[in-house]
Amino acid sequence: MIPAPSPPVRQRHPVAVLGATGAVGQTFVRLLENHPWFELAELAASERSAGRPYGECVRWVTAGQMPASVVHKKILNCDPAAVSSDIVFSALDSSVAGEAELAFARAGKVVLSNAKNHRMAPDVPLVIAEVNPGHLRVLEAQRRNRRWDGAIVTNGNCSAIVTSLALAPIHERFGITDVFVATMQAVSGAGYPGVASLDILGNVIPFINDEEDKLEGELRKFLGSIDGDAIVGAPMTVSAHCNRVAVENGHTVCVSLRLRERAAVNEVEQALRDWNGADVARALPSSPARPIEVLDVPDRPQPRRDVSRGGGMTVSVGRVREDSLFDVKLVAMGDNVVRGAAGASVLNAELMANCGLLPR
Ligand code: NAP
Repeated sequence: MIPAPSPPVRQRHPVAVLGATGAVGQTFVRLLENHPWFELAELAASERSAGRPYGECVRWVTAGQMPASVVHKKILNCDPAAVSSDIVFSALDSSVAGEAELAFARAGKVVLSNAKNHRMAPDVPLVIAEVNPGHLRVLEAQRRNRRWDGAIVTNGNCSAIVTSLALAPIHERFGITDVFVATMQAVSGAGYPGVASLDILGNVIPFINDEEDKLEGELRKFLGSIDGDAIVGAPMTVSAHCNRVAVENGHTVCVSLRLRERAAVNEVEQALRDWNGADVARALPSSPARPIEVLDVPDRPQPRRDVSRGGGMTVSVGRVREDSLFDVKLVAMGDNVVRGAAGASVLNAELMANCGLLPR
């Protein structure tokens, strides 16, 4: 019998991770191990780590074991002259990400960033693959404005991604004019070693530096539109309260919404259940079966029980009910390091590969 032809094998793109030693960097390492389209070729971090084997200077705090393939890999400096991959995932601390990411983009590399520094620039796409893939169009203007062949594409703050995914189906169907959101954010959101255990155990800290501004601004940008060469925020008023709580992983958000168009609670819930995100973001290697799952049990979502849905890429929503101040309220929860950071970046890169926006 003649064997059936094997499916065409896609050449794997070599990629680098900047900030590979931190909480988000380690999650990139985990998600990129055996990735069908990307080959984890290079790891970079600060001068403290550069030149040393990854296994020697990393305290592995993400799920599972450190992949054997990286244990002896030498860490590079975060310098475009030291990194040869054209596709670069950045999990850098924001104190250095701004300049470092610019240097990589100027050197012609495509940078997929997790840091806050460039997210709000009008010519920088801030993308959730299922929500606003069309915002990648501003890359043309970015290359023209900045006279570079590279690119900077960002994903959002972790609580902004969770909130935006939960609100996108409702905004698309009914329009949202006002948002009140209170977050309960996990300690892994502060990186490693993050918040001291004596500060957070048995405690709630009602302040996370910059977080409320990020959540308010980024939510509007994710749900916004393109005007000419720039992204303009959705015309909605957003008020955020951000809290750090003693949860290891998974950010929970309690949200109240005022809608532009009147809708019953069951219609809002149905809009959430029916939504599967943009078609172009379906069936990519990191796409979850469902970007949003609506849970029927009254005491869910809970980080401990629901954070791993869809491999950490599904946002769980529950308690959709009438709101006596606005129109409707709900609770949403998602994995801050996977859906809120590294997984979202990898999905954005897959989206870009499928749209022909990555170097070949
Ligand atoms: P982290 O655990 O503190 O890791 C920071 C990384 O930055 C480490 O790899 C560190 O390398 C590197 N770094 C620090 N100073 C450097 C320098 N001068 N030059 C080069 N590299 C340097 O932080 P994280 O939680 O992974 O967060 C990384 C980024 O993602 C931040 O911008 C954060 O705001 C964003 N983010 C985090 C989350 C989350 O849930 N944690 C979610 C969304 C976005 P060394 O080990 O060598 O010091």
